[in-house]
Amino acid sequence: MTEEGIDLQADVLIIGGGMAACWAAIAAAQAGADVLLVDKGFVGTSGVTATGGPNHWWVAPEPGKREAAVEERHARSFGLAERHWMARIIEESWIALPTLARYYPFGGDGRGGTFYPGVRGPEYMRALRRYATDAGVRILDHHPALELLVHDDGSVAGAAGHARLTGQSWRARAGAVIMATGGCAFRSGLIGSHGNTGDGLLMAAEAGAALSGMEFSVSYSLSPAWNSTRTLPYFAARFFDQDGRELDIPPPIGGEGAHLRALASAMLAGPVIADLSDAPDGLKPILRRIQPASPTPFERRGLDIFRDRFEIKLFGEGTVRGTGGLQVVDSHCQTSLSGLYAAGDSATRELVAGATSGGGAQNAAWALTSGRIAGAAAAARA
Ligand SMILES: Cc1cc2nc3c(=O)[nH]c(=O)nc-3n(C[C@H](O)[C@H](O)[C@H](O)COP(=O)(O)OP(=O)(O)OC[C@H]3O[C@@H](n4cnc5c(N)ncnc54)[C@H](O)[C@@H]3O)c2cc1C
Repeated sequence: MTEEGIDLQADVLIIGGGMAACWAAIAAAQAGADVLLVDKGFVGTSGVTATGGPNHWWVAPEPGKREAAVEERHARSFGLAERHWMARIIEESWIALPTLARYYPFGGDGRGGTFYPGVRGPEYMRALRRYATDAGVRILDHHPALELLVHDDGSVAGAAGHARLTGQSWRARAGAVIMATGGCAFRSGLIGSHGNTGDGLLMAAEAGAALSGMEFSVSYSLSPAWNSTRTLPYFAARFFDQDGRELDIPPPIGGEGAHLRALASAMLAGPVIADLSDAPDGLKPILRRIQPASPTPFERRGLDIFRDRFEIKLFGEGTVRGTGGLQVVDSHCQTSLSGLYAAGDSATRELVAGATSGGGAQNAAWALTSGRIAGAAAAARA
């Protein structure tokens, strides 16, 4: 420690502590690098992964199957995504998730096999923390980064920040830096996103990195009017205006956003009320298991989500489920700034999702894949 604060050194510095940061840290450590990971919060509970239930894009390598999945999503991306990147995130997820089995209690797939793609966020993050620690990653919780350090030639040399529990400043020098600070939720209140204030995008932009796709950062989900969002139950909802007249809303699957557009139009005319009393019986027991945060806001109000009607709103999710972020300039997730790599929601997802959200499958697969690619590349550079 110097008079000014703590001096740290590593081959690879990772800023962030969500799933992208952890996968990046594991990959870099497995490639032989000395890895330091600094998180603004606590690795395991901070970020949107920890409160979500991320489902990874999961397509078996059977003849024609992956090609068909890529084509279907490519069409949804308005043709702006790149097929080879889409294929890459399917393959990386397929390879990487089973390696977590030592740490995560994957369940059965109902056919005698293991079900890998859908994970419960809190356990997933706890598992990734243990996986990273076992791989030799040094984790500093409560150490937000505030700025990037740059060499005279403009390449990235590390980062500086603040240790929240001691009040000291810290400075970490590294051969390569990975930005994995998550998306910017624009303080929308999205559960788990309070630390996702776009710091990484700002730090990198201040150092000269380019952003891309920020105009595609308009992603909305449904939520109860008084709280944050969980999306699973709404596919089973009917919608009414405040006078109890049922609204004619297209189904949520397919339709290129027609469902949300119709609800948004209805909300311009007045409150919209959801009714889940016709939801399939099978949904009720699994909701709490798959999205444990869903019933809580209702229980706190003494409401039964499957019995009582409730007002809904559209909830902005910024670049967490929108698309924009740091521009990725090569196949190694390098940004336009030499020595700086990007992973997860802090990187633009145009490569796999085009102008649309890759929510529901692609975003988690992107976070995992971009993390692993950036981790390996950063280790090779350092
Ligand atoms: C409700 C919800 C459900 C979702 N479901 C799915 C799904 O089913 N399928 C799918 O594909 N995707 C899904 N997603 C998206 C997916 O969860 C994200 O793409 C993924 O979790 C992003 O991981 P990340 O590591 O990039 O970001 P995060 O998990 O948000 O992690 C960001 C980390 O950066 C840290 N950080 C921020 N600023 C700093 C700083 N200055 N210094 C140090 N650390 C910092 C934070 O503390 C946090 O630990 C969902 C998202 C939400 C919100």
